[in-house]
Amino acid sequence: MKTAIYPGTFDPVTKGHLDILERAIAIFDKVIVTLGINPNKKPLFTAEERMELLKDAVKDYKNVEIAVFDGLLVEFARKNNAVAIIRGLRALSDFEYEFQMALMNKKLADEIHTVFLMPNEKYTYLNSSIVRNLAQFGTDVTDFVTPLVNERLKEKFLTGNTH
Ligand code: ADP
Repeated sequence: MKTAIYPGTFDPVTKGHLDILERAIAIFDKVIVTLGINPNKKPLFTAEERMELLKDAVKDYKNVEIAVFDGLLVEFARKNNAVAIIRGLRALSDFEYEFQMALMNKKLADEIHTVFLMPNEKYTYLNSSIVRNLAQFGTDVTDFVTPLVNERLKEKFLTGNTH
């Protein structure tokens, strides 16, 4: 039974995240999508909101769990007997940061492997911050997110409830 964790901020979850998740599911027996609480980031959606959106997005997938973590990622991985950390690689620009994180995690826990997956080309330019920016200006983001995320984005920007 091989478990992988797929950590991220998911603010909000996009079809790019789901593309990577589907690839991870094809390789591992179980994937734990891990919502990170980063005190240095000020997300648009609260952790509870991001959890709700993630839960809805993965409801039809098998062998996927969702968890929140606010500590050291490798500790979370160890506790869950995960053998791998999944990260998505879009462009060269992702590489430096990802490489640094992967090396640090390897130093902390050599038995946990970082696995980089590439999404379908159509998602290579997609990230949560682009989605947030487009939605803020009233642009339709149906192609990039689940219907529930689309709805919640509209609510956020219509009501101005952005913290
Ligand atoms: P983080 O703040 O940890 O980067 P994100 O939610 O932005 O969290 O992303 C989580 C993971 O998903 C990262 O490895 C990121 O590279 C990957 N990812 C996000 N969007 C895409 C996409 N469109 N294609 C491929 N990977 C993606």
